[in-house]
Amino acid sequence: MLRKLKEFEYFEPSNLSEAVSLLDKYGDEAKVLAGGTDLLVWMKEGARSPTYMINIKHIPGVRHIHFNEAEGLRIGALTTVREIETADIIKEKFAGLHQAAKALASIQVRNLATIGGNLSTASPAAELAPPLLALGARVKLRGLRGERVLPLEEFFQGPGSTVIDREILTEVVVPPPAPKSFSLYKSISRRNAVDLAIVGVAVAGRIDGKAGEWKKVKIALGAVAPTPMRALMAEKVLAGKKVDAGAIAEAARTASEEARPISDLRASAWYRKEMVMVLVRRSLEEVSKN
Ligand SMILES: Cc1cc2nc3c(=O)[nH]c(=O)nc-3n(C[C@H](O)[C@H](O)[C@H](O)COP(=O)(O)OP(=O)(O)OC[C@H]3O[C@@H](n4cnc5c(N)ncnc54)[C@H](O)[C@@H]3O)c2cc1C
Repeated sequence: MLRKLKEFEYFEPSNLSEAVSLLDKYGDEAKVLAGGTDLLVWMKEGARSPTYMINIKHIPGVRHIHFNEAEGLRIGALTTVREIETADIIKEKFAGLHQAAKALASIQVRNLATIGGNLSTASPAAELAPPLLALGARVKLRGLRGERVLPLEEFFQGPGSTVIDREILTEVVVPPPAPKSFSLYKSISRRNAVDLAIVGVAVAGRIDGKAGEWKKVKIALGAVAPTPMRALMAEKVLAGKKVDAGAIAEAARTASEEARPISDLRASAWYRKEMVMVLVRRSLEEVSKN
């Protein structure tokens, strides 16, 4: 049920220092607003009632996509999902991230939704998280006492919970891909559009063409655990193995065993585990053929 919003004080800081000072001052009573596609919905449903709202949308220098071969990809936290979906450099070098952006909701939502909001929401089904985990992304957090950078794996703590402590997520950094590496994202949802993933699977890595072996493959899963997760045991299964049907099947089975899904209105835990196996197998088969 939608309700009348509780009154709140609204701030529109013009830079990051001002924004983190406000966050530091008001703490848990304040909420950061980016695209608003999660926060405003929760407020209308009565699930969140901040006393102070800090709109960061107009802060300069936090909305960009930069790439160079030495440093890799840097995406400002206010970059919209649509901008990620349509960026040529992401399509070309980080295909899994492009595919996940394209799978999120609808174009209307993607025009508002930001990468910073998608990660900070910490939904187990957050679409952009699996490809970023598989690509080895790090996040930059800015607080009153300065900046810290941490691997995305250390960012999520549980459903709706992150390590953010009166901080703003400012940038996502993805290392440069090794030559001839691949990345891919596949998901299943009940409807083709405007629906959360029942299961999301991302794979990234490389195949050593001469030896015909898997190299440094990372596998990440969404919507099958309290947080987006790496399937570390499945990755170990592939390390140095020949690219053949046996290794692919074993990795897919192992990833399914590692998943810790719940049953909810979208799917049963059993179905989610089965779909992890199917999607990991299909993803590895697809990259092995290219
Ligand atoms: C119809 C609909 C369909 C959707 N479908 C999908 C889907 O298929 N897949 C999917 O993953 N999501 C989906 N979503 C959820 C949502 O669109 C995304 O999670 C979106 O990326 C959130 O970004 P935002 O900028 O709108 O965040 P906001 O709503 O502005 O913020 C979300 C949360 O993150 C915090 N926050 C935002 N930015 C920062 C920052 N830079 N630093 C610190 N904290 C921050 C806010 O305080 C708030 O708690 C859907 C939403 C709608 C309304």
